[in-house]
Amino acid sequence: MLQSGQEPVALDTLTRADVADAVDHGLATAGPVRKLLHAMAEAGCPVDRGFFHVLRCSAAVGGGFAPEHGVILCHNRLHTRREVLNALAHELIHAYDHCRYGGRVGAGAEPSGSGASTSPGDDGDGGGGAALTSGASDAAASAAPTARSSGSSEDSSHCSGSGGGVDCGGGGSGSPRSGGLDWSDCRQHACTEIRAANLSGDCSLLQELLRGNLPLLPLGWAAQQRACVARRAALSVAMNPACGTRDEAAAVVAEMMPACLADTAPLDASEAVATPP
Ligand SMILES: [Zn+2]
Repeated sequence: MLQSGQEPVALDTLTRADVADAVDHGLATAGPVRKLLHAMAEAGCPVDRGFFHVLRCSAAVGGGFAPEHGVILCHNRLHTRREVLNALAHELIHAYDHCRYGGRVGAGAEPSGSGASTSPGDDGDGGGGAALTSGASDAAASAAPTARSSGSSEDSSHCSGSGGGVDCGGGGSGSPRSGGLDWSDCRQHACTEIRAANLSGDCSLLQELLRGNLPLLPLGWAAQQRACVARRAALSVAMNPACGTRDEAAAVVAEMMPACLADTAPLDASEAVATPP
């Protein structure tokens, strides 16, 4: 299940208590996280600590978001407090995007599908793509240790979504509708993944060094950061069964990159790691 992992060092994962503590700290002090929470409240989606769940996940992903469940962080896929903060910001970007397009989150959200499962996704570490399973509830219930082998690295992806399972989109217009993001629209999914990779710290120099993705000097760091954002978004979008093949998912990400890199709301443009080419 592991793919393209390049993280050179196998790190121990955190305990549930470690991650819960890091979440508490992040919610109280981390600037981007607090800005996102404030922006969500202003957009009509106030959330409290109960919106954040620390679980042991069977999927090889670091976290996930589903409107009706909230944000999930997978302690058995996270290795450092920095990764927890990045995952927290990443999932909150998705929550904010869902909210700003008229979706509701938390107790007020209505599952849009039949199953209310979430897919913990993204950010994490871990294995490669295919290990994403369906749902928060699955993640909670099945404590099956999944294959995270020693230093895998780049995780898979994430699939967030509302309702029925992995919500990773599939070929729509890219125009958010009222009622929240349409996770079955590949362009919408790609855009929120680009934003999450760009604004969460996923593609910081440190994270890229830890993954073994050293800057390619001929490209320069700016191009490297854009490449990181595109790569990580594509990993996430490729988990969406509606997005076609891995190459097709990457093509949608490439198409959406300029517009979605430029959209840094509610954070400042200076908080993004990459800028439109
Ligand atoms: Zn994501």
